[in-house]
Amino acid sequence: MKYTENILGTIGNTPLVKVNRITADLPCLVLAKYETFNPGNSVKDRMALQMIEDAEASGLLKPGGTIIESTSGNTGMGLALVAIIKGYKMVCVISDKQSKEKVDILKAMGSEVYVCPNNVAPEDPKSYYSTARRLSQETPNSWYVNQYDNPSNYKAHYLSTGPEIWEQTEGKITHFVVGVGTGGTISGVGTFLKEKNPDIKIWGVDTYGSVFKKYHETGIFDENEIYPYITEGIGEDILPKNVHFDIIDGFTKVTDKDAAVYTQRLAKEEAMFLGNSAGAAIKGVLQLAEHFTKDDVVVVLFHDHGSRYVGKMFNDEWMKEKGFIG
Ligand code: PMP
Repeated sequence: MKYTENILGTIGNTPLVKVNRITADLPCLVLAKYETFNPGNSVKDRMALQMIEDAEASGLLKPGGTIIESTSGNTGMGLALVAIIKGYKMVCVISDKQSKEKVDILKAMGSEVYVCPNNVAPEDPKSYYSTARRLSQETPNSWYVNQYDNPSNYKAHYLSTGPEIWEQTEGKITHFVVGVGTGGTISGVGTFLKEKNPDIKIWGVDTYGSVFKKYHETGIFDENEIYPYITEGIGEDILPKNVHFDIIDGFTKVTDKDAAVYTQRLAKEEAMFLGNSAGAAIKGVLQLAEHFTKDDVVVVLFHDHGSRYVGKMFNDEWMKEKGFIG
């Protein structure tokens, strides 16, 4: 019989799928690392498991403990499913910008959810960063995950996602393109790939309203770069320790409109029902066209599933309201 002991055994080993129509004008092969096959429907299951197991090993997380995290939803889902299997309580602190589906899903997975205002500075006591820190101080036997600075986030991708991509492409990958939020995915995969072959180029996809691209190019943390944006899952108004800027070759910024329109296009043209950051990522690949030649193998990573965006990017009324479609 072939089975896994529990659902955690299905994390990782996701497929690599060719993107066909949207990238037809590019000279190279474009392959998608398709992370929705994870049990929580996102790449975040990988780092959730790694962070929890490392916290158990180091004694930060003890039996019967409470796991607390500020999360845009996917990390919460990953942590929640690991928490269920391992017997921990889960508390998620989320910003009010995130889709209602994400909150409902976290509650369905037994998590307690606190919703905080998005348009306040990170140091504001009402922000989701501050709220998560306060709850972790007030809750006995709790552990604050802090995916932004927790090195196990990056390590998960160094140990699993990176090696999978290397093996699936038989070492032929030339470029890796991925949206950047906490930085765990780009830094873990990017470091592994560059160790295998330093010529592989690592490109981050950023949003307008986020600090990453400017910081990477100038070393300046420019507060003028920070303003509210609609794209979910990528871009930040802080510099997480998990963004290893030295292994990143460059960033490209994708507009909210393009990210939303390309999320719809992936569904309608490739039958890939994916989240908003996948739309940004594939548009990022198209924006980088001048860097690719005939023999290149470009891998783009798609983080999460479309079901979490049915009320937004897959809702034409919402798309019209935002001015994204006519
Ligand atoms: N896309 C989505 C949908 C996400 O939830 C995240 C995580 N915030 C990312 C992209 C970015 O991944 P990472 O945090 O590993 O940089």
